[in-house]
Amino acid sequence: MARTTTLSRIAGLLLAVATPTSGGAATPTQAEVMTRAAAMYADRLAGRNINRDAGFTARVRGIAGVLIAQAKRDYPDTAAWAWEVHTTDDPDMNADCMAGGKILVSQAYVERLALNDAELAMLLAHEIEHAALHHNLKEYQAALQLDPAWAGRPFAELEYAVDHDSRLMGVLAATNYAQEQEADREGLRLAWRAGWPASALSGYFRKMMRDSDWPRRSKADYPSPIQRWRDAHALADSLQKNYVQPSE
Ligand SMILES: [Zn+2]
Repeated sequence: MARTTTLSRIAGLLLAVATPTSGGAATPTQAEVMTRAAAMYADRLAGRNINRDAGFTARVRGIAGVLIAQAKRDYPDTAAWAWEVHTTDDPDMNADCMAGGKILVSQAYVERLALNDAELAMLLAHEIEHAALHHNLKEYQAALQLDPAWAGRPFAELEYAVDHDSRLMGVLAATNYAQEQEADREGLRLAWRAGWPASALSGYFRKMMRDSDWPRRSKADYPSPIQRWRDAHALADSLQKNYVQPSE
């Protein structure tokens, strides 16, 4: 959820990760983005105490497994991904899914919000959509289109700058805002298609809003918690009134 915050910390590792390509940053391919994400993910796992609680890890993997199976049906390229799901007790993160399906979930966050299974599914589905929709790749494409000077610089610098260079982050703010809204919307739809009741899924956003110190504060690159709850509630209503939920 706090994708920018999480990636800011991840990006600190970026320049330490070997850069397999040389030369300027022509638009990377999805395969290249996934290769680098896999290396960063391995690095993150190595620096943490992961999967400490077997029961919690099994719960997360059970729910993620249902969502990943749905994603493989809906986004065929994801069927070949080496999906991974791990948990951490890091209180400073919540959850994320890196390019290629590399998921990390904080037990501290899930327990603080007391998420039930549907709400945890919504959290995971939002993150899975970021990956399934190739949001990292599209962010780099947007950066190169909106600020073409980056094409002449190494990709590792662009990769770092999207989360650290305030000028570039300003240029990308609208892209990131739209990606957050898309991950909320498509995540709710994904989990609904996988079988969870829409209203139960939207309950995640109510808990997230109540947990926020600034529920009404929207940023240039991030919708406010109250906005996200309103949007999810309206979408859940619409799905329940106007559509028949797919059955297994
Ligand atoms: Zn997000």
